[in-house]
Amino acid sequence: MNFSDHLRSQEIFMKVAKAAENIGVKAYVVGGYVRDLVMERGSKDIDFMCVGSGIELAEEVKRLYPKHVPLSVFRNFGTAMLKLEEGEVEFVGARKESYRSDSRKPLVETGTFLEDMERRDFTINALAISLNSEDFGEVIDPFGGLIDISKKMIKTPMDPEITFSDDPLRMMRAIRFAAQLKFDIDADTFYAITKNAHRLKIISMERIIVELNNIILSEQPSYGFKLLFASKLLHEFFPELVALQGVESVDDKSHKDNFYHTLKVLDNVSAKSDNLWLRWAAIMHDIAKPPTKRFNKKVGWTFHGHEDKGARMTPGIFKRLKLPLDERMKYVQKLVRLHLRPIALVKDEVTDSALRRLLMDAGDDIEDLMQLCRADVTSKNNRKVKRYLDNFDKVERKLAEVEERDQLRNFQPPVSGEEIMEVLGLSPSKMVGDIKEELKEAILEGKIENDHAQAKELMFIIAEQKGITPKK
Ligand code: ATP
Ligand code: MG
Repeated sequence: MNFSDHLRSQEIFMKVAKAAENIGVKAYVVGGYVRDLVMERGSKDIDFMCVGSGIELAEEVKRLYPKHVPLSVFRNFGTAMLKLEEGEVEFVGARKESYRSDSRKPLVETGTFLEDMERRDFTINALAISLNSEDFGEVIDPFGGLIDISKKMIKTPMDPEITFSDDPLRMMRAIRFAAQLKFDIDADTFYAITKNAHRLKIISMERIIVELNNIILSEQPSYGFKLLFASKLLHEFFPELVALQGVESVDDKSHKDNFYHTLKVLDNVSAKSDNLWLRWAAIMHDIAKPPTKRFNKKVGWTFHGHEDKGARMTPGIFKRLKLPLDERMKYVQKLVRLHLRPIALVKDEVTDSALRRLLMDAGDDIEDLMQLCRADVTSKNNRKVKRYLDNFDKVERKLAEVEERDQLRNFQPPVSGEEIMEVLGLSPSKMVGDIKEELKEAILEGKIENDHAQAKELMFIIAEQKGITPKK
């Protein structure tokens, strides 16, 4: 396989080839860029490796650009990065790695081309393209990575036990690549993951979550989660999700397996949206089912309050997983808390007031909430599924009607606290809050419209009932 035409079509490759010749080192394109080129997938970031100093090569490449290109040098790691318009370009010198058994900090030593390929995580990533005149454009494939690409197989170049024990993050990467590329994991490689899963403990949560979020953003995330579960990697960092697995029966009554249900919901949401946080809401929506599970002789299994408890569990789980605790967490929490509300609105006799309350609580996230609810319908009975989804169509129509009429999204009371204080001559107090709350209730109950004049009129009536005399 030869990619010389591809290399000639992009300035950066010719510059690196020239720079390597100038300073007398052998240079190669390596890693994911090569893999993605072979697979005809788009790839942005490029990694270069040279047998020599990666930093010197980067500095020479920089000199070859007439315009200024920003260069960052990481002396400790022996790497350098150029920021080009097309993407980030990394340079590293060939190295071999040997690990001390007590730590995952590698001792980095300069190595040969082959030693550098050996330390890479998977055969499909241990591919290089030569930038050197004698074999310019040739793919160098020391471990059968090209065959593994054609077999769609994730496999370590060396003994998988050692590969994973040296750097346990590679186990997460194996599943991440399997999920992204829709590949299988070679049996020996997978067995070594199951044996070393407990070693994931020594990896920082931040690095684990980068890989997990990549799995979540893959086309069909359930596949990656099933691998995480089967290998027991999931047990190392997400026991709450593992606890959803399993079916219990009492008196011939059993509940559904909430782990596989959750994965189906996640796939359903993912088929419609790339929003990472909507996908996280799917993962979290039933997270409190295990701690709220009860058996009742008459009705069977119940999970009362799992939506509220799940919402309360969300910050703690996000914190431990080093996920953001800002409005993204709040969004997930909100969807978890509200995920049963639209179901309650399916009934024909549902009141406008109930619809208004949901609109007010969901705000701009109402469409995402409805997507989650639709995704939550995972019955195998197609007639049932259709009936449920038709019901949600009806709820959405009703919501749209009420919204058009009352404009309740991102509701702000038409009379502000300041105005109440000003007009009634009150200082900041509980009384002001009570009046505001009564006005809001009146709007929700449809006694008045979401309108300033009507709200102000009612404000005077409430004030009078409370014995307040407005100042003139
Ligand atoms: P992506 O498309 O996600 O960027 P990638 O294969 O380029 O995938 P990177 O994390 O960018 O992955 O790493 C670049 C290359 O460095 C990999 O292809 C692999 O050869 C090597 N590599 C990265 N991380 C490790 C690791 N933990 N152990 C061994 N080799 C690794
Ligand atoms: Mg990369």
